Amino acid sequence: MILNYPELAVQELIDEVLKEYAQNNPHTCNCERCKNDIMALSLNNLPPKYVVTDHGNILTKTIYDQVGGKAQVVAALTAAIQKVQKNPRH
Ligand SMILES: [Zn+2]
Repeated sequence: MILNYPELAVQELIDEVLKEYAQNNPHTCNCERCKNDIMALSLNNLPPKYVVTDHGNILTKTIYDQVGGKAQVVAALTAAIQKVQKNPRH
């Protein structure tokens, strides 16, 4: 199967980053549509990194190493959350 590391990282972190953002912004929406918009936006801002693997379980640490660190993904997610919350499409 083909995997895209940033995609795995975004899936891994979205709930955590969204929850943290919601603590400071009580009206944050986390419906499926907003979450998908946030993930799509983040992924447009992260360079893709495709790999072919025979097994689906990849270590989380490997994922973050491959995308240039967890902080970069958190930053992309945070920027995307701010954008989507300003202009929700749900
Ligand atoms: Zn929403």
